Amino acid sequence: MKEALLEIIVCPQCKRQLTYQATTQQLVCEHEKLAFPIRDGIPVLLVEEAAAC
Ligand SMILES: [Zn+2]
Repeated sequence: MKEALLEIIVCPQCKRQLTYQATTQQLVCEHEKLAFPIRDGIPVLLVEEAAAC
């Protein structure tokens, strides 16, 4: 994951910036405690795919 890319990735639900969690390979919305998976290096920014964290 490139840092530059992460800066523009926001939560599809609340539009806040997501935090990249290297250990779990997830993008986390701290605001809603939602974790979006990254599959094959591509962030899956779908609320239906997000897991509570
Ligand atoms: Zn959010």
